[in-house]
Amino acid sequence: MPRGPDFGLRGFFFIIKIFAKRQLIMIEGYFDDTEERRRVRQNGTGWIEVIVGSMFSGKSEELIRRLTRARIARQKVQVFKPKIDARYSREEIASHSGQTHTSLPVTTAAELLAQVEPDTEVVGIDEGQFFDMEIVEAVNRLAAGGKRVIVAGLDQDYTGKPFEPMPQLLCVAEFITKTHAICVKCGSTANYSQRTVESEARVEVGAADKYEARCRKCFVPHADAPTEG
Ligand SMILES: [Zn+2]
Repeated sequence: MPRGPDFGLRGFFFIIKIFAKRQLIMIEGYFDDTEERRRVRQNGTGWIEVIVGSMFSGKSEELIRRLTRARIARQKVQVFKPKIDARYSREEIASHSGQTHTSLPVTTAAELLAQVEPDTEVVGIDEGQFFDMEIVEAVNRLAAGGKRVIVAGLDQDYTGKPFEPMPQLLCVAEFITKTHAICVKCGSTANYSQRTVESEARVEVGAADKYEARCRKCFVPHADAPTEG
């Protein structure tokens, strides 16, 4: 049977098919890196996911996205936040972009642990940097007990110092996501929360107007005048 141009055409389509399949695998691989791959609990244990970054980097937004997806999958979700964060609402966690999710305010890690119900599958924690060091043991226990624990928080304070207990949580987590903002001054990747008013407090809670996102070059580890325009 003569092959001729027919083979060439078939070969061309074959290559296109391989390429398309590879693209699909790459796309699936991207999404797979979030929840689907982690859903498999081969030995009954859970795991810890930590989302860290500066202010305006979309930490709470990412937390809410993951929690919403779990709820759509009809998993039982409980969300906690430290009582110190009175921003927007006492019963909700909120992102700067306005997304919300109902949550329980707690004062300590022990109180959080006591409130987690046995049949809860996913535990969300926002503003993790405001918890005491016992939160590390608490999330370890929850994960060992089969729960998926997702913690979001600031990784550095306004001076650029690691913000405990987030460094410790990063160490014990199976999965880490670092979110970034965009530098207000120069447009580079921002990793710092620049304070723009004088204050002694380590964090000005819910005071988005007292901070701006800055990159390594534009950040100064003390209060600085806000960027014009
Ligand atoms: Zn910059």
